[in-house]
Amino acid sequence: MPDLHVFSIPMRTRFRGITVREGLLLRGDAGWGEWSPFLEYDDDVSRPWLACAREAADVGWPEPLRDAVPVNVTVPATDPARAHEIVLAGGCRTAKVKVAERGQTLADDLARVEAVRDALGPDGLVRVDANGGWDVDEAVRAIAAIDRAAGGLEYVEQPVMDVEDLAVVRRRVQVPIAADESIRRAEDPYRVRDLEAADIAVLKVQPLGGVRACLRIAEDIGLPVVVSSAVESSVGIAAGVSLAAALPELHHACGLATVQLLTDDVATEPLLPVDGLLPVVRPEVDDTALARLAADEDRVTHWLRRWESVGQDRVS
Ligand SMILES: [Mg+2]
Repeated sequence: MPDLHVFSIPMRTRFRGITVREGLLLRGDAGWGEWSPFLEYDDDVSRPWLACAREAADVGWPEPLRDAVPVNVTVPATDPARAHEIVLAGGCRTAKVKVAERGQTLADDLARVEAVRDALGPDGLVRVDANGGWDVDEAVRAIAAIDRAAGGLEYVEQPVMDVEDLAVVRRRVQVPIAADESIRRAEDPYRVRDLEAADIAVLKVQPLGGVRACLRIAEDIGLPVVVSSAVESSVGIAAGVSLAAALPELHHACGLATVQLLTDDVATEPLLPVDGLLPVVRPEVDDTALARLAADEDRVTHWLRRWESVGQDRVS
């Protein structure tokens, strides 16, 4: 029976409709693992997330091939002045800019992207993420305009939601396409590959079943990978960093600089970027932080029930 701790960490801003990130930390022979499937996920969807946590706690990860992983700063759908500030404060050479936000216009996106380019200078890379917010024709028009405003885009992430549409958009634009929402379960990357729907695959270690599972997927699909987070604590982020460090090739900055979206962290030294890089380390878990961030009794009951429901040993 591993050592289990249920944590609850308030978020700085609302994300996916949640304001608190909850999960379960388990300590095994190899170290700490994090199991934090989103609350609406059923047992089947949550099981690969558990495989990732158990790999971390029971087995550990493959040898890293690099000792640091470049990451992007994320710019939400803010006004241009704030976007400029965020990029300067982030210290990263790659910025991911949210576009196609509901209630905003293409002009808003263009102004934000111009401000980001201005802050990064000519050598930085700008990528945008539409989270599936456009239809095919909107995507084709918007991508051309944003590419011009950015002085060249690294790639566009999930311009349209549907994977067949993604393949259509990819054939109509010059800018490389990354699949994110189209990859949620282990079989999805193969569908993206078979439809030739993307140039880049965004892989997240928890939903896809851990570091080794993702290394296999990356090899099978033969696409460049961007490792991204599911907004975990530093314990969960370390698994993503480990994947990025073990990939034979890493051509793009990763989306792993998300510990700053949380107001607190379980690690003694949170996995935050310095000069756009995350170190390849296993964070130490701080007992006082575990106590400070321990979930309420009813949330602990909820998580332990989920733990048993996915087939893990009963917790007495
Ligand atoms: Mg995305």
